[in-house]
Amino acid sequence: MIELKNIKKSYSVGKSSMEVLKGVDLKIEDGELVSIMGSSGSGKSTLLNILGILDNYDSGEYLLGGTLVKNLSEKKAALFRNKMVGFVFQSFNLVSFKNALENVALPLYYQGIGRKKRNTMAMEYLEKVGLDKWAEHLPSELSGGQKQRVAMARALITQPKIILADEPTGALDSATSMEVMALIKEVNDQGMTVIIVTHETDIAALTNRTIRLRDGIIGE
Ligand code: ADP
Ligand code: MG
Repeated sequence: MIELKNIKKSYSVGKSSMEVLKGVDLKIEDGELVSIMGSSGSGKSTLLNILGILDNYDSGEYLLGGTLVKNLSEKKAALFRNKMVGFVFQSFNLVSFKNALENVALPLYYQGIGRKKRNTMAMEYLEKVGLDKWAEHLPSELSGGQKQRVAMARALITQPKIILADEPTGALDSATSMEVMALIKEVNDQGMTVIIVTHETDIAALTNRTIRLRDGIIGE
């Protein structure tokens, strides 16, 4: 499903450049539940953004579902990303003036799907995460755990192949974190590939494999 070969990525800082990924090799099979750990600034988000085609890499090869992800036009990258990946972020990234249902339906709006179908599907996905009764509520009226479940429903509604979660429990207390992890496990049990960035060992312990990012390369 995912194969990275000797991936390198630098950022320019003023006139100099800083190499964050120094030759990452990684294989992730269909249906895996993997965590990525590493200290702050070690390049976890950089790696996840490359995996999710949100960012480019400098050299190496990234194969996603057999397709080489390299030098794609913005448009091609967006199409491929929307088909393949769902994102979940630490800060939820919900639209504050839209209710839970509208937030979940948003990716379908960008796919040009009509309102009625959008809303029916969004309600189905809210049901899956146990929040159908909260459909009309704004994010500000939801707890952190509820917001993250809405974000999960929004990530799932396009039926992607992979869920990429960047510290999904980073803003949650431990009981709520376990609820979100239970949902992630459930999704993974249904066959979805899930990759979670975390710096919490108890979260990583709930995944089937932990990848460690250190000095720009991977050790397991
Ligand atoms: P992590 O998620 O592991 O904390 P990041 O991937 O966010 O690490 O960042 C890795 C390093 O790259 C950090 O030193 C960070 O400051 C730097 N960095 C990240 N994004 C950029 C950017 N867009 N421009 C310049 N430097 C960046
Ligand atoms: Mg990060």
